[in-house]
Amino acid sequence: MRVLVFCFGEYQTNTYFCFDENGNCVVIDPGMDGASVTEKLREKGLTPSYILLTHGHFDHILGVKALHEATGAKICIHADDAPLLSDPGQNAAVYFYRGQTGSFPSTRADVLLHDGDEIVCGSFSFRVMHTPGHTPGSVCFRSGETLFCGDTVFAYGYGRTDLAGGDPEAMSRSLERLAAIPENLKLCPGHGNSAHLDRCRESLKVYARILQMEK
Ligand SMILES: [Zn+2]
Ligand SMILES: [Zn+2]
Repeated sequence: MRVLVFCFGEYQTNTYFCFDENGNCVVIDPGMDGASVTEKLREKGLTPSYILLTHGHFDHILGVKALHEATGAKICIHADDAPLLSDPGQNAAVYFYRGQTGSFPSTRADVLLHDGDEIVCGSFSFRVMHTPGHTPGSVCFRSGETLFCGDTVFAYGYGRTDLAGGDPEAMSRSLERLAAIPENLKLCPGHGNSAHLDRCRESLKVYARILQMEK
């Protein structure tokens, strides 16, 4: 599996293209600018089969509709975040997005994800890890030694839990679960640089304890 990362839009959301030599392709988190993502895919000669969403916040999903309509790629999101695809209140667009939330580009999930599910695309696949806390249906996608972790973990921190559906206690458990993964996975977050789990593991345990104390 090859991975390319792009950053479009004012919230600097990371969009990942995962693909193989036969052109099988998955887009993880199209971000806010579906037209730019579609154009970049064309440039690379890629047509995605799936749009995998780490969670339903507006800065990760605003571009979904345009990309889905242009490519027919199936929209995949955890069942607990599926309502966010069409609700600018729950997906935080009403608080942060200066666009026309009245005409929010609502979509519907084609595939509802659950913990442990596998998504296969050509020669590569992803295992779904449900990691609630930032949102109820936040997930990480693991492919081999790479973990696409959305806004659950960043290179220097973890995702906020004060937005709609955020849950510090659930986040604490999710961070503990990630810290318990023995392999030194490459972490590819929803914003900012990638990192390696070995370097973050101890801080994840500290964050988990702090979140427990805050409850
Ligand atoms: Zn988020
Ligand atoms: Zn985000």
